[in-house]
Amino acid sequence: MEFNDTWQAVLGELEVSLSKASFTTWFKGTNLVNINSLVATIQVPSIFAKEWFEKKYHPQILKTLNKYSKDTIQKVEYIIGTAQKTDDVIRIEPEPDKTGSVTSNIIGFKIKDDYTFNNFVVGPNNRLAYAASMSVAKDPGKIHNPLVIYGGVGLGKTHLIHAIGNELIEQKPNMKMLYTSCEDFANDYVSSIQSKKADSFKRKYRSIDIFLVDDIQFLSRKEGTQEEFFHTFNALHQSNRQIVMTSDRIPTAIPDLEDRLSSRFSGGMLADIQPPNLETRQAILRKKAIENKVDISQEVLDYIAQNIQSNIRELEGALNRVIALSQLDNSPINKEIASHAIKEMIGRNGTGKVNCNHLVNSICEYYGISLADIIGSKRNRELVRPRKLAMYLLRHEIGMSYPKIGELLGGKDHTTVMHAVNMVDRDLSKDSETREELAILRSKIYNPEI
Ligand code: ADP
Ligand code: MG
Repeated sequence: MEFNDTWQAVLGELEVSLSKASFTTWFKGTNLVNINSLVATIQVPSIFAKEWFEKKYHPQILKTLNKYSKDTIQKVEYIIGTAQKTDDVIRIEPEPDKTGSVTSNIIGFKIKDDYTFNNFVVGPNNRLAYAASMSVAKDPGKIHNPLVIYGGVGLGKTHLIHAIGNELIEQKPNMKMLYTSCEDFANDYVSSIQSKKADSFKRKYRSIDIFLVDDIQFLSRKEGTQEEFFHTFNALHQSNRQIVMTSDRIPTAIPDLEDRLSSRFSGGMLADIQPPNLETRQAILRKKAIENKVDISQEVLDYIAQNIQSNIRELEGALNRVIALSQLDNSPINKEIASHAIKEMIGRNGTGKVNCNHLVNSICEYYGISLADIIGSKRNRELVRPRKLAMYLLRHEIGMSYPKIGELLGGKDHTTVMHAVNMVDRDLSKDSETREELAILRSKIYNPEI
Protein backbone atom coordinates (compact mmCIF):
# COMPACT_ATOMS: atom_id res chain seq x y z
CA MET A 1 0.00 0.00 0.00
CA GLU A 2 2.75 2.30 0.98
CA PHE A 3 4.67 1.46 -2.21
CA ASN A 4 1.56 2.02 -4.17
CA ASP A 5 1.21 5.54 -2.79
CA THR A 6 4.81 6.33 -3.63
CA TRP A 7 4.40 4.98 -7.13
CA GLN A 8 1.18 6.94 -7.62
CA ALA A 9 3.04 10.09 -6.73
CA VAL A 10 5.83 9.25 -9.15
CA LEU A 11 3.34 8.48 -11.90
CA GLY A 12 1.50 11.69 -11.20
CA GLU A 13 4.66 13.67 -11.80
CA LEU A 14 5.76 11.69 -14.84
CA GLU A 15 2.36 12.02 -16.42
CA VAL A 16 2.72 15.76 -16.46
CA SER A 17 6.16 15.71 -18.04
CA LEU A 18 5.54 13.09 -20.73
CA SER A 19 3.31 13.02 -23.76
CA LYS A 20 -0.01 11.28 -23.29
CA ALA A 21 0.92 8.59 -25.80
CA SER A 22 4.20 7.76 -24.07
CA PHE A 23 2.66 7.82 -20.66
CA THR A 24 -0.21 5.48 -21.42
CA THR A 25 1.92 3.17 -23.50
CA TRP A 26 4.68 2.67 -21.00
CA PHE A 27 3.37 3.35 -17.57
CA LYS A 28 0.03 1.64 -17.62
CA GLY A 29 0.22 -1.63 -15.73
CA THR A 30 3.46 -0.76 -13.95
CA ASN A 31 3.88 -1.14 -10.23
CA LEU A 32 6.41 -0.46 -7.54
CA VAL A 33 6.61 -3.81 -5.82
CA ASN A 34 9.49 -3.44 -3.43
CA ILE A 35 12.19 -1.23 -1.97
CA ASN A 36 14.95 -3.15 -0.32
CA SER A 37 18.41 -1.95 0.67
CA LEU A 38 18.61 0.88 -1.78
CA VAL A 39 17.09 -1.09 -4.64
CA ALA A 40 13.63 -0.37 -5.93
CA THR A 41 11.86 -3.07 -7.92
CA ILE A 42 9.40 -2.03 -10.54
CA GLN A 43 7.13 -4.44 -12.26
CA VAL A 44 6.49 -3.80 -15.94
CA PRO A 45 4.15 -5.70 -18.24
CA SER A 46 6.52 -6.87 -21.01
CA ILE A 47 10.12 -7.36 -22.10
CA PHE A 48 9.55 -4.59 -24.50
CA ALA A 49 8.61 -2.22 -21.70
CA LYS A 50 11.57 -3.37 -19.62
CA GLU A 51 13.96 -2.51 -22.42
CA TRP A 52 12.31 0.82 -22.82
CA PHE A 53 12.50 1.69 -19.14
CA GLU A 54 16.15 0.73 -18.93
CA LYS A 55 17.12 2.61 -22.04
CA LYS A 56 15.04 5.65 -21.82
CA TYR A 57 13.21 6.42 -18.60
CA HIS A 58 15.66 5.14 -16.04
CA PRO A 59 17.23 8.45 -14.94
CA GLN A 60 13.89 10.15 -14.72
CA ILE A 61 12.35 7.32 -12.72
CA LEU A 62 15.26 7.16 -10.30
CA LYS A 63 15.17 10.87 -9.71
CA THR A 64 11.43 11.02 -9.22
CA LEU A 65 11.41 7.97 -6.96
CA ASN A 66 13.93 9.59 -4.68
CA LYS A 67 11.76 12.62 -4.45
CA TYR A 68 8.82 10.66 -3.08
CA SER A 69 10.34 7.73 -1.27
CA LYS A 70 11.61 7.99 2.28
CA ASP A 71 14.44 5.56 1.51
CA THR A 72 17.40 6.60 -0.55
CA ILE A 73 17.29 4.60 -3.71
CA GLN A 74 20.41 4.00 -5.72
CA LYS A 75 19.35 1.36 -8.09
CA VAL A 76 16.16 0.40 -9.89
CA GLU A 77 15.50 -3.02 -11.29
CA TYR A 78 12.70 -3.82 -13.67
CA ILE A 79 10.95 -7.14 -13.55
CA ILE A 80 8.33 -8.47 -15.87
CA GLY A 81 4.91 -9.27 -14.54
CA THR A 82 1.42 -7.97 -14.50
CA ALA A 83 -0.09 -5.86 -11.81
CA GLN A 84 -3.21 -7.42 -10.41
CA LYS A 85 -5.52 -4.56 -11.02
CA THR A 86 -4.01 -2.24 -13.54
CA ASP A 87 -6.99 0.03 -13.40
CA ASP A 88 -6.25 0.86 -9.81
CA VAL A 89 -2.63 1.55 -10.43
CA ILE A 90 -3.18 4.60 -12.52
CA ARG A 91 -5.89 6.91 -11.43
CA ILE A 92 -5.97 9.71 -13.85
CA GLU A 93 -9.25 11.13 -12.70
CA PRO A 94 -9.46 13.09 -9.50
CA GLU A 95 -11.01 11.47 -6.45
CA PRO A 96 -14.74 11.78 -6.07
CA ASP A 97 -16.16 14.22 -3.64
CA LYS A 98 -15.86 12.25 -0.41
CA THR A 99 -18.42 14.15 1.59
CA GLY A 100 -21.00 13.69 -1.09
CA SER A 101 -21.88 17.32 -0.74
CA VAL A 102 -22.87 19.07 -3.88
CA THR A 103 -20.50 21.88 -4.56
CA SER A 104 -21.28 21.98 -8.21
CA ASN A 105 -23.87 20.44 -10.40
CA ILE A 106 -21.46 17.80 -11.45
CA ILE A 107 -20.87 15.40 -8.63
CA GLY A 108 -17.70 13.42 -8.63
CA PHE A 109 -15.86 15.42 -11.30
CA LYS A 110 -14.90 12.24 -13.00
CA ILE A 111 -15.92 12.96 -16.52
CA LYS A 112 -12.87 12.68 -18.78
CA ASP A 113 -12.91 15.58 -21.15
CA ASP A 114 -11.10 13.77 -23.94
CA TYR A 115 -13.93 11.26 -24.43
CA THR A 116 -16.31 13.18 -26.65
CA PHE A 117 -18.74 12.47 -29.46
CA ASN A 118 -16.47 14.46 -31.66
CA ASN A 119 -13.57 12.06 -31.43
CA PHE A 120 -15.67 8.92 -31.46
CA VAL A 121 -15.43 7.13 -34.80
CA VAL A 122 -18.77 5.76 -35.92
CA GLY A 123 -19.04 2.51 -37.86
CA PRO A 124 -21.62 -0.23 -38.38
CA ASN A 125 -20.46 -1.83 -35.12
CA ASN A 126 -21.40 1.07 -32.86
CA ARG A 127 -23.83 3.19 -34.87
CA LEU A 128 -26.85 2.26 -32.79
CA ALA A 129 -25.14 2.95 -29.46
CA TYR A 130 -23.78 6.22 -30.80
CA ALA A 131 -27.14 7.41 -32.07
CA ALA A 132 -28.90 6.47 -28.84
CA SER A 133 -26.24 8.25 -26.79
CA MET A 134 -26.58 11.37 -28.89
CA SER A 135 -30.31 11.51 -28.44
CA VAL A 136 -30.02 11.00 -24.71
CA ALA A 137 -27.53 13.85 -24.51
CA LYS A 138 -29.86 16.04 -26.49
CA ASP A 139 -33.03 15.22 -24.64
CA PRO A 140 -32.26 13.60 -21.31
CA GLY A 141 -35.10 11.80 -19.59
CA LYS A 142 -37.34 11.88 -22.62
CA ILE A 143 -36.61 8.95 -24.88
CA HIS A 144 -34.43 5.92 -24.21
CA ASN A 145 -34.68 5.80 -20.47
CA PRO A 146 -32.76 3.94 -19.22
CA LEU A 147 -30.15 3.60 -21.92
CA VAL A 148 -27.94 0.56 -21.56
CA ILE A 149 -24.85 0.33 -23.74
CA TYR A 150 -23.36 -3.14 -23.73
CA GLY A 151 -20.48 -4.93 -25.44
CA GLY A 152 -17.06 -6.51 -24.92
CA VAL A 153 -13.98 -4.86 -23.45
CA GLY A 154 -12.25 -1.99 -25.15
CA LEU A 155 -15.06 -1.30 -27.58
CA GLY A 156 -15.95 2.23 -26.49
CA LYS A 157 -18.63 1.93 -23.81
CA THR A 158 -16.83 4.13 -21.31
CA HIS A 159 -15.96 6.56 -24.07
CA LEU A 160 -19.62 6.92 -25.03
CA ILE A 161 -20.95 7.36 -21.51
CA HIS A 162 -18.36 10.08 -20.89
CA ALA A 163 -19.27 11.67 -24.22
CA ILE A 164 -22.85 11.94 -22.99
CA GLY A 165 -21.52 13.54 -19.82
CA ASN A 166 -19.39 16.04 -21.69
CA GLU A 167 -22.18 17.01 -24.01
CA LEU A 168 -24.53 17.56 -21.08
CA ILE A 169 -22.00 19.65 -19.18
CA GLU A 170 -22.02 21.93 -22.16
CA GLN A 171 -25.64 21.87 -23.16
CA LYS A 172 -27.39 21.59 -19.82
CA PRO A 173 -25.08 23.04 -17.22
CA ASN A 174 -27.93 23.44 -14.77
CA MET A 175 -28.71 19.80 -14.56
CA LYS A 176 -27.23 17.79 -11.75
CA MET A 177 -25.22 14.96 -13.13
CA LEU A 178 -23.46 12.13 -11.40
CA TYR A 179 -21.04 9.78 -13.09
CA THR A 180 -19.80 6.77 -11.21
CA SER A 181 -18.40 3.36 -11.89
CA CYS A 182 -20.64 0.70 -10.49
CA GLU A 183 -17.79 -0.44 -8.29
CA ASP A 184 -17.48 3.02 -6.74
CA PHE A 185 -21.21 3.07 -6.22
CA ALA A 186 -20.98 -0.24 -4.37
CA ASN A 187 -18.07 0.96 -2.22
CA ASP A 188 -19.79 4.21 -1.49
CA TYR A 189 -22.88 2.32 -0.44
CA VAL A 190 -21.01 -0.06 1.84
CA SER A 191 -19.10 2.73 3.53
CA SER A 192 -22.27 4.75 3.99
CA ILE A 193 -23.70 1.83 5.93
CA GLN A 194 -20.57 1.38 7.98
CA SER A 195 -20.38 5.03 8.88
CA LYS A 196 -24.14 5.20 9.44
CA LYS A 197 -24.66 7.75 6.72
CA ALA A 198 -27.28 5.93 4.74
CA ASP A 199 -29.44 9.02 4.66
CA SER A 200 -26.85 11.24 3.11
CA PHE A 201 -26.11 8.48 0.60
CA LYS A 202 -29.77 8.41 -0.40
CA ARG A 203 -29.94 12.16 -0.59
CA LYS A 204 -26.90 12.28 -2.81
CA TYR A 205 -28.01 9.67 -5.32
CA ARG A 206 -31.67 10.49 -5.43
CA SER A 207 -31.34 14.19 -6.00
CA ILE A 208 -29.71 14.05 -9.38
CA ASP A 209 -31.08 14.62 -12.85
CA ILE A 210 -28.69 12.47 -14.77
CA PHE A 211 -27.19 9.27 -13.47
CA LEU A 212 -24.34 7.72 -15.47
CA VAL A 213 -23.17 4.32 -14.23
CA ASP A 214 -20.29 2.50 -15.86
CA ASP A 215 -19.92 -1.29 -15.75
CA ILE A 216 -23.10 -2.46 -14.05
CA GLN A 217 -21.98 -6.07 -14.40
CA PHE A 218 -20.30 -5.35 -11.04
CA LEU A 219 -23.71 -5.62 -9.43
CA SER A 220 -23.39 -9.35 -9.90
CA ARG A 221 -23.68 -11.17 -6.57
CA LYS A 222 -23.80 -7.96 -4.53
CA GLU A 223 -27.19 -8.32 -2.93
CA GLY A 224 -27.23 -5.30 -0.66
CA THR A 225 -25.94 -3.04 -3.37
CA GLN A 226 -28.48 -4.42 -5.83
CA GLU A 227 -31.26 -3.62 -3.42
CA GLU A 228 -30.05 -0.07 -3.00
CA PHE A 229 -29.45 0.34 -6.72
CA PHE A 230 -33.00 -0.84 -7.36
CA HIS A 231 -34.45 1.87 -5.12
CA THR A 232 -32.18 4.55 -6.51
CA PHE A 233 -33.11 3.52 -10.01
CA ASN A 234 -36.83 3.62 -9.27
CA ALA A 235 -36.70 6.94 -7.51
CA LEU A 236 -34.92 8.53 -10.44
CA HIS A 237 -36.82 6.79 -13.17
CA GLN A 238 -40.22 7.59 -11.72
CA SER A 239 -39.45 11.27 -11.90
CA ASN A 240 -38.10 11.01 -15.44
CA ARG A 241 -34.48 11.52 -14.59
CA GLN A 242 -32.14 10.10 -17.19
CA ILE A 243 -30.22 6.93 -16.38
CA VAL A 244 -27.42 5.61 -18.59
CA MET A 245 -25.58 2.40 -17.84
CA THR A 246 -22.89 0.34 -19.50
CA SER A 247 -22.31 -3.36 -19.16
CA ASP A 248 -19.95 -5.90 -20.61
CA ARG A 249 -22.92 -8.09 -21.52
CA ILE A 250 -26.64 -7.85 -22.04
CA PRO A 251 -28.22 -7.30 -18.59
CA THR A 252 -30.19 -10.55 -18.65
CA ALA A 253 -26.86 -12.37 -18.92
CA ILE A 254 -25.28 -10.79 -15.82
CA PRO A 255 -24.93 -13.66 -13.38
CA ASP A 256 -26.91 -13.37 -10.17
CA LEU A 257 -28.59 -10.14 -11.01
CA GLU A 258 -32.10 -10.03 -9.63
CA ASP A 259 -34.81 -10.34 -12.27
CA ARG A 260 -36.50 -7.18 -11.13
CA LEU A 261 -33.31 -5.27 -11.94
CA SER A 262 -32.56 -6.85 -15.28
CA SER A 263 -36.14 -6.31 -16.36
CA ARG A 264 -35.96 -2.63 -15.31
CA PHE A 265 -32.69 -2.29 -17.22
CA SER A 266 -34.27 -3.72 -20.32
CA GLY A 267 -37.26 -1.40 -20.15
CA GLY A 268 -35.68 1.41 -22.13
CA MET A 269 -33.11 1.18 -24.86
CA LEU A 270 -30.54 -1.60 -25.13
CA ALA A 271 -27.77 -0.72 -27.55
CA ASP A 272 -24.94 -3.09 -28.32
CA ILE A 273 -21.41 -2.38 -29.54
CA GLN A 274 -19.70 -5.03 -31.63
CA PRO A 275 -16.02 -5.37 -32.50
CA PRO A 276 -15.06 -2.95 -35.26
CA ASN A 277 -14.62 -4.23 -38.80
CA LEU A 278 -11.52 -3.50 -40.86
CA GLU A 279 -12.78 -0.23 -42.33
CA THR A 280 -13.71 1.10 -38.91
CA ARG A 281 -10.37 0.06 -37.47
CA GLN A 282 -8.64 1.93 -40.27
CA ALA A 283 -10.76 5.01 -39.67
CA ILE A 284 -10.03 4.92 -35.94
CA LEU A 285 -6.28 4.66 -36.52
CA ARG A 286 -6.35 7.49 -39.01
CA LYS A 287 -8.15 9.68 -36.50
CA LYS A 288 -5.79 8.76 -33.65
CA ALA A 289 -2.74 9.44 -35.84
CA ILE A 290 -4.07 12.88 -36.62
CA GLU A 291 -4.84 13.52 -32.95
CA ASN A 292 -1.29 12.52 -32.04
CA LYS A 293 0.03 14.71 -34.85
CA VAL A 294 2.14 11.93 -36.29
CA ASP A 295 2.75 11.22 -39.89
CA ILE A 296 2.01 7.60 -40.68
CA SER A 297 1.58 6.15 -44.12
CA GLN A 298 -1.63 4.44 -45.10
CA GLU A 299 0.35 1.26 -45.56
CA VAL A 300 1.41 1.18 -41.93
CA LEU A 301 -2.06 2.07 -40.68
CA ASP A 302 -3.50 -0.74 -42.77
CA TYR A 303 -0.91 -3.12 -41.42
CA ILE A 304 -1.89 -2.33 -37.83
CA ALA A 305 -5.61 -2.45 -38.61
CA GLN A 306 -5.27 -5.84 -40.24
CA ASN A 307 -3.26 -7.33 -37.44
CA ILE A 308 -4.98 -5.98 -34.36
CA GLN A 309 -8.57 -6.99 -34.56
CA SER A 310 -10.01 -7.60 -31.17
CA ASN A 311 -10.77 -4.18 -29.77
CA ILE A 312 -10.04 -0.50 -29.88
CA ARG A 313 -8.03 -0.31 -26.70
CA GLU A 314 -5.57 -2.80 -28.22
CA LEU A 315 -5.61 -0.86 -31.44
CA GLU A 316 -4.69 2.36 -29.66
CA GLY A 317 -2.03 0.58 -27.66
CA ALA A 318 -0.53 -0.80 -30.86
CA LEU A 319 -0.41 2.60 -32.47
CA ASN A 320 1.20 4.13 -29.39
CA ARG A 321 3.86 1.45 -29.38
CA VAL A 322 4.65 1.99 -33.01
CA ILE A 323 5.02 5.73 -32.46
CA ALA A 324 7.10 5.21 -29.36
CA LEU A 325 9.44 2.72 -30.98
CA SER A 326 10.11 4.98 -33.92
CA GLN A 327 11.00 7.75 -31.46
CA LEU A 328 13.28 5.44 -29.54
CA ASP A 329 15.05 4.26 -32.65
CA ASN A 330 14.99 7.71 -34.13
CA SER A 331 13.64 6.32 -37.33
CA PRO A 332 10.64 7.14 -39.48
CA ILE A 333 7.55 5.01 -39.02
CA ASN A 334 7.62 2.21 -41.53
CA LYS A 335 6.34 -1.31 -41.76
CA GLU A 336 9.43 -2.86 -40.16
CA ILE A 337 9.14 -0.64 -37.11
CA ALA A 338 5.43 -1.38 -36.94
CA SER A 339 5.92 -5.08 -37.16
CA HIS A 340 8.61 -5.06 -34.48
CA ALA A 341 6.51 -2.90 -32.19
CA ILE A 342 3.37 -4.99 -32.31
CA LYS A 343 4.92 -8.43 -32.67
CA GLU A 344 4.29 -9.22 -29.04
CA MET A 345 0.67 -8.10 -29.20
CA ILE A 346 -0.06 -10.26 -32.20
CA GLY A 347 0.90 -13.40 -30.36
CA ARG A 348 -1.35 -12.67 -27.44
CA ASN A 349 -4.63 -14.34 -26.65
CA GLY A 350 -7.79 -12.86 -27.96
CA THR A 351 -6.10 -10.52 -30.36
CA GLY A 352 -3.77 -10.59 -33.25
CA LYS A 353 -3.99 -11.67 -36.79
CA VAL A 354 -6.63 -14.13 -37.67
CA ASN A 355 -5.84 -15.96 -40.83
CA CYS A 356 -8.44 -16.95 -43.32
CA ASN A 357 -8.13 -20.67 -42.63
CA HIS A 358 -8.65 -20.18 -38.94
CA LEU A 359 -11.68 -18.05 -39.69
CA VAL A 360 -13.25 -20.59 -42.01
CA ASN A 361 -12.45 -23.47 -39.65
CA SER A 362 -14.07 -21.67 -36.71
CA ILE A 363 -17.22 -21.19 -38.74
CA CYS A 364 -17.32 -24.84 -39.80
CA GLU A 365 -16.79 -25.90 -36.23
CA TYR A 366 -19.53 -23.66 -34.95
CA TYR A 367 -22.10 -25.00 -37.41
CA GLY A 368 -20.82 -28.54 -37.26
CA ILE A 369 -20.12 -28.78 -40.97
CA SER A 370 -17.00 -29.87 -42.81
CA LEU A 371 -14.60 -27.82 -44.87
CA ALA A 372 -15.74 -29.75 -47.95
CA ASP A 373 -19.30 -28.64 -47.19
CA ILE A 374 -18.45 -24.99 -47.03
CA ILE A 375 -16.29 -24.90 -50.13
CA GLY A 376 -18.62 -27.19 -52.05
CA SER A 377 -21.58 -26.01 -54.04
CA LYS A 378 -24.52 -27.83 -52.44
CA ARG A 379 -27.34 -25.40 -51.95
CA ASN A 380 -28.86 -26.83 -48.76
CA ARG A 381 -30.06 -24.15 -46.38
CA GLU A 382 -27.81 -25.33 -43.58
CA LEU A 383 -24.77 -24.84 -45.82
CA VAL A 384 -25.76 -21.68 -47.63
CA ARG A 385 -25.95 -19.55 -44.54
CA PRO A 386 -22.55 -20.46 -43.04
CA ARG A 387 -21.03 -19.95 -46.48
CA LYS A 388 -22.54 -16.49 -46.79
CA LEU A 389 -21.41 -15.50 -43.33
CA ALA A 390 -17.93 -16.83 -44.03
CA MET A 391 -17.73 -14.64 -47.11
CA TYR A 392 -18.93 -11.67 -45.12
CA LEU A 393 -16.42 -12.17 -42.35
CA LEU A 394 -13.52 -12.81 -44.72
CA ARG A 395 -14.36 -9.54 -46.36
CA HIS A 396 -14.91 -7.47 -43.24
CA GLU A 397 -12.58 -9.02 -40.70
CA ILE A 398 -9.63 -9.76 -42.92
CA GLY A 399 -10.26 -7.40 -45.80
CA MET A 400 -9.81 -10.03 -48.51
CA SER A 401 -10.82 -9.12 -52.03
CA TYR A 402 -13.94 -10.68 -53.58
CA PRO A 403 -11.98 -12.76 -56.10
CA LYS A 404 -9.64 -14.04 -53.35
CA ILE A 405 -12.59 -15.07 -51.21
CA GLY A 406 -14.14 -16.86 -54.16
CA GLU A 407 -10.90 -18.68 -54.75
CA LEU A 408 -10.52 -19.72 -51.12
CA LEU A 409 -14.05 -21.04 -50.97
CA GLY A 410 -13.74 -23.52 -53.79
CA GLY A 411 -13.39 -21.32 -56.85
CA LYS A 412 -16.59 -19.30 -56.71
CA ASP A 413 -17.17 -16.32 -58.92
CA HIS A 414 -16.39 -12.94 -57.40
CA THR A 415 -19.88 -11.65 -58.21
CA THR A 416 -21.35 -14.52 -56.16
CA VAL A 417 -19.22 -13.43 -53.24
CA MET A 418 -20.14 -9.80 -53.65
CA HIS A 419 -23.80 -10.67 -53.77
CA ALA A 420 -23.54 -12.76 -50.61
CA VAL A 421 -21.70 -10.01 -48.70
CA ASN A 422 -24.31 -7.46 -49.74
CA MET A 423 -27.08 -9.76 -48.65
CA VAL A 424 -25.60 -10.12 -45.20
CA ASP A 425 -25.23 -6.36 -45.01
CA ARG A 426 -28.90 -6.00 -45.80
CA ASP A 427 -29.90 -8.62 -43.23
CA LEU A 428 -27.83 -6.81 -40.66
CA SER A 429 -29.76 -3.63 -41.06
CA LYS A 430 -33.09 -5.32 -40.51
CA ASP A 431 -32.74 -8.30 -38.23
CA SER A 432 -31.06 -8.60 -34.91
CA GLU A 433 -30.64 -12.35 -35.32
CA THR A 434 -27.91 -11.87 -37.89
CA ARG A 435 -26.19 -9.36 -35.64
CA GLU A 436 -26.22 -11.80 -32.75
CA GLU A 437 -25.05 -14.65 -34.95
CA LEU A 438 -22.14 -12.64 -36.28
CA ALA A 439 -21.25 -11.54 -32.76
CA ILE A 440 -21.05 -15.17 -31.69
CA LEU A 441 -18.97 -16.10 -34.71
CA ARG A 442 -16.58 -13.24 -34.07
CA SER A 443 -16.11 -14.30 -30.49
CA LYS A 444 -15.43 -17.89 -31.61
CA ILE A 445 -12.88 -16.59 -34.07
CA TYR A 446 -11.09 -14.20 -31.74
CA ASN A 447 -11.47 -16.03 -28.45
CA PRO A 448 -11.41 -19.69 -29.38
CA GLU A 449 -10.90 -20.75 -25.77
CA ILE A 450 -14.32 -19.47 -24.67
P1 ADP B 1 -14.86 -0.10 -22.88
O1 ADP B 1 -15.39 0.81 -21.83
O2 ADP B 1 -15.92 -0.60 -23.81
O3 ADP B 1 -14.02 -1.22 -22.34
P2 ADP B 1 -13.38 2.24 -23.70
O4 ADP B 1 -14.51 3.19 -23.86
O5 ADP B 1 -12.56 2.37 -22.49
O6 ADP B 1 -13.89 0.73 -23.82
O7 ADP B 1 -12.49 2.33 -25.01
C1 ADP B 1 -11.13 1.92 -25.07
C2 ADP B 1 -10.32 2.94 -25.82
O8 ADP B 1 -10.72 2.96 -27.18
C3 ADP B 1 -10.54 4.35 -25.30
O9 ADP B 1 -9.32 5.04 -25.31
C4 ADP B 1 -11.50 4.99 -26.29
O10 ADP B 1 -11.30 6.37 -26.42
C5 ADP B 1 -11.14 4.27 -27.57
N1 ADP B 1 -12.31 4.10 -28.43
C6 ADP B 1 -13.28 3.18 -28.31
N2 ADP B 1 -14.19 3.29 -29.29
C7 ADP B 1 -13.78 4.32 -30.07
C8 ADP B 1 -14.30 4.91 -31.25
N3 ADP B 1 -15.41 4.46 -31.85
N4 ADP B 1 -13.63 5.96 -31.77
C9 ADP B 1 -12.50 6.41 -31.20
N5 ADP B 1 -11.95 5.88 -30.10
C10 ADP B 1 -12.58 4.85 -29.51
MG1 MG C 1 -15.19 0.68 -19.78
